[in-house]
Amino acid sequence: MSYDSSNIFAKILRGEIPCHKVYEDADAIVFMDVMPQSAGHTLVVPKAPSRNLLDADPAVLAKVIPLVQKVAVAAKAAFNADGVSIAQFNEPAGGQTVFHLHFHIMPRYDGQPLQLHARKMEDSAVLAANAEKLKAALA
Ligand code: AMP
Repeated sequence: MSYDSSNIFAKILRGEIPCHKVYEDADAIVFMDVMPQSAGHTLVVPKAPSRNLLDADPAVLAKVIPLVQKVAVAAKAAFNADGVSIAQFNEPAGGQTVFHLHFHIMPRYDGQPLQLHARKMEDSAVLAANAEKLKAALA
């Protein structure tokens, strides 16, 4: 399968639809997942077009993983989490639903299981407040 630029993250990258943005640089954008699996669930999205990890340029991966680490550390602090799960899904059989490479940063809280994947929309006000918290932790 090849990259299809009509996916929703490509639209966010082109500014065609809004997101609760936390961070952006020349290579990546970071925003809140609208259907969080845990409080503070955040997505790190390289700007370079690739469908997922399987077709990604290794140079893009080499640049994005330090950002994944930085956001994970900041999210753990910002949301007073006990741990962080990082996820990345490839192809429908692998659980992928949006076909532009991204990494899930999911703060984890002792005794709390993850919510179902891409199932329940969070209130915009909660997402906005969480984006601000994470922005502050990254600053
Ligand atoms: P995946 O299944 O790994 O492709 O994950 C896609 C993720 O994107 C899911 O966790 C969705 O909740 C999330 N998502 C879908 N649409 C949007 C959107 N417009 N803004 C932010 N997150 C989104």
